[in-house]
Amino acid sequence: MTTNSKVGYRARARVRPGSKKKYNISARANKLSPSGIRKFFDLLASMEGVISLGVGEPDYVTPWHITETAIESLQKGQTMYTSNLGMPELRQELSSYLLREYGLEYDPATELLVTVGVSEALDLAMRAIVDPGDEVIAPDPCYVSYEPCVVLAGGRAVAVPTDEKDDFVLRAAEVEARVTGKTRAILIGYPANPTGAVMTREQLAELADVARRHDLMVVSDEIYARLVYGVEHTCVASLPGMKPDTILLGGFSKAYAMTGWRIGYAAAPKEIIATMTKIHQYTMMCAPTMGQVAAIEALRSGDGSVGEMVEDYNRRRLVMVNGLRQIGMPCFEPKGAFYAFPSIARTPMSSEEFAETLLTEEKVAVVPGSAFGRCGEGYVRCCYATSMAEIEEALTRMRRFVNRHQKT
Ligand code: PLP
Repeated sequence: MTTNSKVGYRARARVRPGSKKKYNISARANKLSPSGIRKFFDLLASMEGVISLGVGEPDYVTPWHITETAIESLQKGQTMYTSNLGMPELRQELSSYLLREYGLEYDPATELLVTVGVSEALDLAMRAIVDPGDEVIAPDPCYVSYEPCVVLAGGRAVAVPTDEKDDFVLRAAEVEARVTGKTRAILIGYPANPTGAVMTREQLAELADVARRHDLMVVSDEIYARLVYGVEHTCVASLPGMKPDTILLGGFSKAYAMTGWRIGYAAAPKEIIATMTKIHQYTMMCAPTMGQVAAIEALRSGDGSVGEMVEDYNRRRLVMVNGLRQIGMPCFEPKGAFYAFPSIARTPMSSEEFAETLLTEEKVAVVPGSAFGRCGEGYVRCCYATSMAEIEEALTRMRRFVNRHQKT
């Protein structure tokens, strides 16, 4: 109770936002920490003149023919829900794409589900196969959503350290050493965010052997499949005998510069797709209709644009990696995605300190490696899907920064 002395009455205390009221927050949600990436976006949104190597998305806008197709569909009034599974034409195009790209046959009626980005597909996959207490093995460092999706499904993520000396590849023996009676799946994402690592066919085959021997599913996030430089992407489901044991996740955000359209997909055995669809129909209902129309056009005629963007990313990749090495930040050569993951060992800082100080002193945004797991400490993620001029300016500023803060 408080007293308002001027008017002489006692006002009842009210609970104001931010005051003492305790809300019941679920234990599962409580276990999550806020994304280390978001924090930096919020900070940099309040600053001017910042060069962002932080956000993991293309600086390109969606190729015009894709956007135009979606606009036309809106003009024609195509604004309703679609089938829960996604538009039949899109599933047909996805099926043809997976056949021509990897020789994989997925039935568009039962083995494919169109989702709200790979983000939703990942969440559905975990909720479809994980029971409380189950374990899912994933590499460390890895994409920020992997562990939270496992935890939200009631499971426990088991991190397998990966090392720069090993090209940040997930070693089959290391995985096998962590398999227990509770392990349900191995969750991987190659080409990798944040390292740019790509696993070879042989390395994936060894991992697939472990999965088969222990009857585990492989959930493979292949969102960066088309962004590879001088190496081939191997689809896990295309390895001999692996199709029934793989939940393949793919999407349009990165290769087609379509992050805002929110379209992804899952390809998996029909029992798994049926389960994922049950969850999807009660939560999302369907992926955005306009985005699905755009995705059909992307699959039908987007190859040229993807090829041009990949060539351009490759040029930027070389400038970024060589530039970082020259300023005393040793950098593993990324073979896919659009990230460089240089070491900050020349400075005495933690990756979070490095990112915060670089942003305040030089207005360059990078993401601390620790946001991607313990083994990301000692590194920062620099996204090179930004203009060449910005990359060069960022490197100039980083050179100044590293020289100023190098260990004595
Ligand atoms: N998987 C990885 C490895 C990513 O890097 C991202 C986005 O950064 C996603 C999934 C999410 O993709 P989408 O936009 O399809 O939800």
